[in-house]
Amino acid sequence: KSAIHRICSGQVILDLQSAVKELVENSLDAGASSVEVSLKEHGEESFKVIDNGCGISPSNFQALARKHHTSKIADFSDLHSLKTFGFRGEALSSLCALGNLTIETRTKNEPVGTHLIYDHSGSVSAERKVARQVGTTVTVERLFSTLPVRSKEFSRNIRREYGKLISLLNAYAIMAKGVRFLCTNTSGKNSKSVVLKTQGSSSLKDNVITVFGLNTFKCLEPLSLCISEGCKVEGYLSKTGYGSGRNLGDRQYFYVNGRPVDMPKVSKLLNELYRSSNSKQYPIAIMNFIIPTTSYDVNVTPDKRKIFFSDEGTLVVTLRAAIEKIYSPDQC
Ligand code: ADP
Ligand code: MG
Repeated sequence: KSAIHRICSGQVILDLQSAVKELVENSLDAGASSVEVSLKEHGEESFKVIDNGCGISPSNFQALARKHHTSKIADFSDLHSLKTFGFRGEALSSLCALGNLTIETRTKNEPVGTHLIYDHSGSVSAERKVARQVGTTVTVERLFSTLPVRSKEFSRNIRREYGKLISLLNAYAIMAKGVRFLCTNTSGKNSKSVVLKTQGSSSLKDNVITVFGLNTFKCLEPLSLCISEGCKVEGYLSKTGYGSGRNLGDRQYFYVNGRPVDMPKVSKLLNELYRSSNSKQYPIAIMNFIIPTTSYDVNVTPDKRKIFFSDEGTLVVTLRAAIEKIYSPDQC
């Protein structure tokens, strides 16, 4: 049973990015206004997400990391109107199976915090009181150490995994309005370095400036489109394309109702439209698709990153028309 669980866990938590994504989303679900991600050796040694959200109440400690334990679905119909990021109760149980999980947490009803160590089956193996503020810290050490082959691959690809993670954190920092983000990494004997730091402004514009810098921001046009009834796109799009020197993930951020997602088709469309005759050019894009929760399904892939639209045809046509208005290869 536990071997099967481990293999399945490997599918919920595909990589460093999806592991940290689950923790950050739990923090946002808990109403945090500050989320700190602290990495050791780019996440290979450990990663930790510290928030100032509502905390976890002691009655939840034991069941927390059991498979399908969630405090977020009252009944099945809730699945269609996802207000929270998490809803399947699989993240913590998967992380337990794949690495060493510890949680430190305190709610406003508790005078002190609790430090909990979980074993690979998801049970609490040690518990003690600690002093801490209201909120939660989840630490995962040695992700994938329970899967030897995967673990080797993880070490080998750590720089790429780290790059993808930073790009995901940028995605949250841009869109999660009113939430401060901090990400640090400690490597070897070096001191902590700050990778990302935002003020948690409630304006998208401020967050875009913080993440991209003012110069890049000046090359962006605000985007506000109506695609069909009840379906809008908001964000920014660059007037011109850029070469492929940097990782594309650093420059194109897609969301559905504020939730970061992969949109390979939209990305492909943008890149095609921005391609100039002599070289490959890619636009900078920040696009939040605001659509009724009934017209897409996030529960399709385990990591919730793939989204299927019910009316993708219209989407592409409208988007193309809008881009044709903004795109001006010679500007900027
Ligand atoms: P899900 O998010 O799908 O409910 P998870 O495995 O991600 O499942 O988390 C299990 C439960 O642990 C959550 O339902 C929530 O009650 C609690 N939890 C996890 N992380 C936090 C956090 N940072 N703050 C408060 N509660 C948390
Ligand atoms: Mg969750």
